[in-house]
Amino acid sequence: MTQSPRSVRSQCPYCGVGCGLELLPPAEKGRAVRRDAEGNPMWTARGDRQHPSNLGQVCIKGATVGETLASGRLRQPLFRSSFSDDFEPISWDDALERITKQMACSLERRGNANGIAMYGSGQFHTEDYYVAQKLMKGALGTNNFDANSRLCMSSAVAGYTQSLGSDGPPCCYDDLDHCKVAFLIGTNTAECHPVLFQRLLKRKKRNPGSLKIVVVDPRRTDTAKAADIHLPIAPGSDLALLHGIAHLILRENGQDPAFIDDHTENYEAFFDVVARWTPRRVARFCNLPEKRLREVAQLFHHRETVLSLWSMGVNQRREGTAVVSGLINLHLLTGQIGKEGAGPFSLTGQPNAMGGREAGGLSHLLPGYRLVANDQHRQVVEQAWNLPAGSIAAEPGLAAWQQIEAMERGELDLWWVAATNPLVSMPDLDRVKAAMSKCPLVVVSEAYADSETSHYAHLLLPAAQWSEKAGAMTNSERRVTYCPAYRRRFGESRPDWEVFAEVGRRLGFEKQFCFNSAADVYAEFAQLTRGRLCDMSGLSHALLSEEGPQQWPFPSESTTPCESKRLYTDRRFATPSGRARFCINQPLGLAEPPCDTYPLVLTVGRYLGQWHTMTRTGKAERLRAMHPEPLLEIHPVDAQELKLIHGELAAISSRRGHITAKVKVTDRIRSGSVFLPMHWGFTQDNACEANTLMHDQACPISKQPELKACAVIVAPAVSVVKPVEQEKGRLETLRRLLTPTLP
Ligand code: SF4
Repeated sequence: MTQSPRSVRSQCPYCGVGCGLELLPPAEKGRAVRRDAEGNPMWTARGDRQHPSNLGQVCIKGATVGETLASGRLRQPLFRSSFSDDFEPISWDDALERITKQMACSLERRGNANGIAMYGSGQFHTEDYYVAQKLMKGALGTNNFDANSRLCMSSAVAGYTQSLGSDGPPCCYDDLDHCKVAFLIGTNTAECHPVLFQRLLKRKKRNPGSLKIVVVDPRRTDTAKAADIHLPIAPGSDLALLHGIAHLILRENGQDPAFIDDHTENYEAFFDVVARWTPRRVARFCNLPEKRLREVAQLFHHRETVLSLWSMGVNQRREGTAVVSGLINLHLLTGQIGKEGAGPFSLTGQPNAMGGREAGGLSHLLPGYRLVANDQHRQVVEQAWNLPAGSIAAEPGLAAWQQIEAMERGELDLWWVAATNPLVSMPDLDRVKAAMSKCPLVVVSEAYADSETSHYAHLLLPAAQWSEKAGAMTNSERRVTYCPAYRRRFGESRPDWEVFAEVGRRLGFEKQFCFNSAADVYAEFAQLTRGRLCDMSGLSHALLSEEGPQQWPFPSESTTPCESKRLYTDRRFATPSGRARFCINQPLGLAEPPCDTYPLVLTVGRYLGQWHTMTRTGKAERLRAMHPEPLLEIHPVDAQELKLIHGELAAISSRRGHITAKVKVTDRIRSGSVFLPMHWGFTQDNACEANTLMHDQACPISKQPELKACAVIVAPAVSVVKPVEQEKGRLETLRRLLTPTLP
């Protein structure tokens, strides 16, 4: 591949679009070297024109990533025996000794490894994921390895698996260029996956009649503003909407009888359920004019090509799996799957959530889309890892929120958090803090010193981050990109996979963890995918860096990029029967609906210029200037009734806590709902911990918490209480420990 002299290519480390970036070194173009606030030279990022996923396009987050890599970094391991002590620097040897000792004590005390848990991240490279879960599931024998993808994509995983027989998004980004209808539900694509949304918009501008955009969202987001049809449904009513659309498709004979007969099962049961979701009933449930429902239903027809896109608005629900399956049902009903421009397509929130799914990065998974509960799957993996039969536990381990509950009960002796910041992203944050204070050893592997979670750690391990370590990431369209190490590691930081492997060796598994490089790790992982739906046994670091990004499936027999961009083009699905399955669920609505005491629904979301918990994007001046503070959006009617004034402070309370935020009166939000961004944790200026208010109720199948909605009451704030001062005090202590940055 050609590139500018000295530039390198990689994948953007933010959202799941997974754009290719071209990174230019600080002195490129003969200009003066740009430096960040701490004087570190900054690399410049631009879109990689040769990357098939974004063709040179990039959003402001990707474009500014070079400004965020060196400031505020954690330089060396730090330890304290209690949260009230100050951190002291320690050696890596000492740090690893403390971890293995605690693991050994826990094993001895409990007779098993269930007192140990790890919480990883869609920010991991696939290699980090693979070694982490091998350490936990293989060496220690506990499946207590979960990741923040649980909060992000696990409903999509469960929905695909229930309906199609396996995880794995069937579509690709080229489908955006071929669909006649883009049906966007529970996704603010314009702000959260901007490069994909711009691709849709450009197409529509070029040829307005070629594409209809439908957006289903209680809020009039930037995505909804660009839609041909916006359905501002009542929060939590999406499954009823999908059943209503199915009802009307059937009434209008828009279904594909041949596809249903030849390639699906459970159709009769599905028919019986949706027959009861009449347009009138659905319109009432969704608080929507019947006419709008009919308009949308007419677009779903077996002769059209419909591409459905979704993300957190669907997944972060206590009926998340049911809604995903409800959406897939529409595609099965109309045969809109496995062909150009059509299919159900989940957009991942994180750059490598997909890689995590492939590598066994959730507590019920094993590498290669295998399941811990499947005897045969465990056997294959145990053999590959050269471990005795029975080494891998047959029960799924603790999922993300279950790990918090286990700490609350005093059942965890060690909680290891890596590359994620649960003290902003989990629900009910005060409960998470209290739970962490009960765990005798909280280890946090982090690139940055001042993440909120660092303040509740005993042991901080400096992590080499993206740009400083080599590895692979898979984006939403199943495209794997090699991400090289192009900057020197900061201070004593180490790649996460190296740390996990070292712990494995110290526990006595020298042979299983004798990797010499990330390429070795990837080679072992890739072989474990052979013959599976996500077969990437033909991929290697060498091939990816020489040939560029590749989509899977890419079996080892492949000498050229895989022919099929799409899954299920042969209409044979991954279920035992080979038929896709109509899944039937009755709509339940929100787990915590509004009531007299808490009359409004709070929904949380994201801003274009910030990403997740701001650990990295909070360091870019341009991004901070774009969104200087979090704003509570409220409809003018509600604001008037509650005596809230635009620009003044409001107190927002739920059953779990209270926060304050500045009011923005706007008709972007429907009356009865309010909106807050989720990014700001207690270390940020203008802190506003929106997830403090959220409840922990989760989808029983995917275990994904309903982070999208809870009931709140809002009132003018008479004074601003700053409960975060204690944490800020700790932050100052931590900052004092940051030694001068490298030249
Ligand atoms: S759209 Fe996502 S992957 Fe692409 S540059 Fe922006 S943040 Fe990065």
